[in-house]
Amino acid sequence: MIPWNFTQIPGMEQEKAELQKLANQDRIPHAQLFLGDFGSAALGLALAFARLVLCEQSTSEPCETCPACLKSGRWVHPDLHFSFPVIGEKKTSNDFLPAWRTFLTQHPYGHPSDWFNQMGEENKQGNINVAECQQIFQKLSYTIVEGRYKILLMWGPEFLGKEGNRLLKLIEEPPENTLFLLVGADADRILPTILSRCQLVKIRPFQDPEIAEALQALSLAGTHEATTWAYLADGNLGQAIHLATVSERPVAELLLTWLRTCYADSGQPMVSLVEKLARLGREEQKSLFQYGLYFFRQMILSLADRPQAIRLSDEEKKAAINLASHLDLERLAEMVNLFDESLRSIERNANAKILFLNVSIQLHAVLKDQMRYIPSLN
Ligand SMILES: [Zn+2]
Repeated sequence: MIPWNFTQIPGMEQEKAELQKLANQDRIPHAQLFLGDFGSAALGLALAFARLVLCEQSTSEPCETCPACLKSGRWVHPDLHFSFPVIGEKKTSNDFLPAWRTFLTQHPYGHPSDWFNQMGEENKQGNINVAECQQIFQKLSYTIVEGRYKILLMWGPEFLGKEGNRLLKLIEEPPENTLFLLVGADADRILPTILSRCQLVKIRPFQDPEIAEALQALSLAGTHEATTWAYLADGNLGQAIHLATVSERPVAELLLTWLRTCYADSGQPMVSLVEKLARLGREEQKSLFQYGLYFFRQMILSLADRPQAIRLSDEEKKAAINLASHLDLERLAEMVNLFDESLRSIERNANAKILFLNVSIQLHAVLKDQMRYIPSLN
């Protein structure tokens, strides 16, 4: 496993250059908020920045040979403290450090829900509680062990309730050579008093080619699939990684096969396909519906005479334009509603076999323009 550094983050050249320059300045702002969606480069850039600041010799990347880098590369540097939401009133980040290090090592593009799942608490919401705030004071009261700075990296300041106000003075006037790196996604949910005390580092979404490149580098997708996931993830690498991880089969091919099978007049292939789709994992079924919704929106662009705006690979674009030419907006809207409702049903753990059969029959009706003769199946 290569220790984390800037190079591992795809693209973002300008953002990296600015942070590299900043890390080498004498005066680093004592509180910075890296603001970008969970799944963006915000956490990855903050982590690389922290490692570079702690490195004893390098100027653009952690050198990986000095004692500081050897420790920060395993996230065990004594001057690099982490604070993040946890589940349990009395629990603090310190209780979950081994799991947190694994989370960072797997990929720093995760969503808080991935983190809570990893803590074994599915469907539970964590927070940064009073005990954690007290611990932050304690951590920052220690003298610096090794280098120039001690750093507190807080992931998810939006999980900080009003007890966050206890930290205001600390953030405003931190102990000497202390840096706060906050990594958050939603400025509206961060205490305004904290927001106003931080220098903002706004992180843009990834571009499609950056996401495609990253998925291939992680061996999560081939060229064609990587492009599909990049379009669908809309700038969010964490989401793209999730989609590519849960889907064992090429999703575009699966959707087109399904649409073609539903268009045909023979029932047997439809029934076999329904059985196959019902056997897919829940997450893969969700990604099929998500991709379907995306694909239908591209078809709407075709109907709106804006084919140049379609974001699909060549083969799928051809299929979308061709299929759209047989449909009108009303029928396409029916399909969007159908997939939208199905996605929500899957999330509510509907019976997959019944759901896919219903959707297939309704798709057949819509594609054949018999919708008005079919009573609603919902
Ligand atoms: Zn170093």
